[in-house]
Amino acid sequence: MKAINIGICGLGTVGAGVVNVMQRNVASIAARAGREILITHIGARRDNPACDLGSTKISRDIFAVVNDPDVDIVVELIGGYEPALELVMQAIANGKHVVTANKALIAMHGNEIFAAADARGVSVLFEAAVAGGIPIIKAIREGLAANSIEWLAGIINGTGNYILTEMRDKGRQFDDVLVDAQQLGYAEADPTFDVEGIDAAHKLVILASLAFGMPLNFDACFTEGISAIAPQDVIFAGELGYRIKHLGIARKVEQGVEMRVHPTLIPQRRLIANVDGVMNAVLVKGDAVGPTLYYGAGAGAEPTASSVIADIVDVVRGIDAEPINRVPTLGVAQQALSTLPTLSISDINTAYYLRINVSDQPGVLSHVTQILSDAGISIEAVLQKEVVQQGVQSEQASRQVPIVLITSQTLESQFMAAVKNIEALDVVQESVHFIRVESLG
Ligand code: NAP
Repeated sequence: MKAINIGICGLGTVGAGVVNVMQRNVASIAARAGREILITHIGARRDNPACDLGSTKISRDIFAVVNDPDVDIVVELIGGYEPALELVMQAIANGKHVVTANKALIAMHGNEIFAAADARGVSVLFEAAVAGGIPIIKAIREGLAANSIEWLAGIINGTGNYILTEMRDKGRQFDDVLVDAQQLGYAEADPTFDVEGIDAAHKLVILASLAFGMPLNFDACFTEGISAIAPQDVIFAGELGYRIKHLGIARKVEQGVEMRVHPTLIPQRRLIANVDGVMNAVLVKGDAVGPTLYYGAGAGAEPTASSVIADIVDVVRGIDAEPINRVPTLGVAQQALSTLPTLSISDINTAYYLRINVSDQPGVLSHVTQILSDAGISIEAVLQKEVVQQGVQSEQASRQVPIVLITSQTLESQFMAAVKNIEALDVVQESVHFIRVESLG
């Protein structure tokens, strides 16, 4: 059988990882794929000392790879939107299969890429785009095919998880840990995508589309980062039996689909609450299988290469099959994609952790609980803390104490109206701090 030729565009961290793992495991990968796989052309602006390319053809122009008639599969590892989009579309137009690790590209342009690939009869696979080395896309698309998926929740950004873990374990401030994460190479020089949740939102949108068989819709994902988390919230959450994790949550409810990325209190007894440092995990709840948890390295040269090469093997296995007999890109055929509406954050139902700094006066707690009760929100737990800012002892009103509460589940719009009323109280001098709470039961 003819060997399959791979062209790699981009020879950075992941590109070098793919070259090295392919070289090391060449025989077992060929045995699994059913034929030989050769890296025949690499597009890279410069060499990467992390790998040895031997006599492999190298072009400084990545488009030379997608226009090479001998290349069967293009592996896009340059990242970003452009020229990655143009490169992938050109590869598809040239009749080449595509494997990519690029979550930003798939989340923002996946619909147009998949439509073009369908029309041309080629595959586009992107396992490495979500949770690095964890085969979560294959698990949802194939392993859980029998299930109606109810919800999924994932720690899908290692940088954010590292920062929250350090804040909890060492009582450190967000800004301080972020500098550390940058020095360790976990966070980019511009950490916005990681800490403001955009990277996690890219990944969540992909997972939601696979779980619910719907087109990608990045704009419908609510995104909130971790930069406003205070060390005291991490401590109070712990005292209440919770951990704060930056979760991506997708849930199918009667009215449609929720997609949201935000800091979340989860009970510390849940396995996923104990996923620490840069590790990733995704919890998926199917109606038949129940909850399933997938854990592993969410980034790094070889873990990510593991997913990229698994995709290459999948493409090779199906390369001679009629397109109709291949696994559909989003788990269901394009024409069967659902038109489920997506919900805005004000329409979600969840519980809340609140920290309200109030003047230390008698009866304040009852004012707060009355407002919540008037909004139909009950209280599940209360922490009454010591004075946090010592004023002059006799001036009781100048002293601030935090009231910490966990509420029952409520509609977010109703909750926000109650927060506004609480903030209007004379005894409340700053914004109410709140974090959503999920039981993940
Ligand atoms: P990286 O180390 O920055 O490597 C990207 C490579 O692409 C660099 O060598 C860069 O070359 C090259 N490149 C960029 N634009 C190019 C262009 N126009 N022409 C030629 N070469 C170009 O990035 P990475 O970490 O390997 O990430 C690659 C992809 O994998 C991204 O989509 C990323 O999101 C995804 N991913 C990465 C990880 C991870 O752990 N790193 C995990 C999961 C997914 P120069 O050096 O010359 O700029």
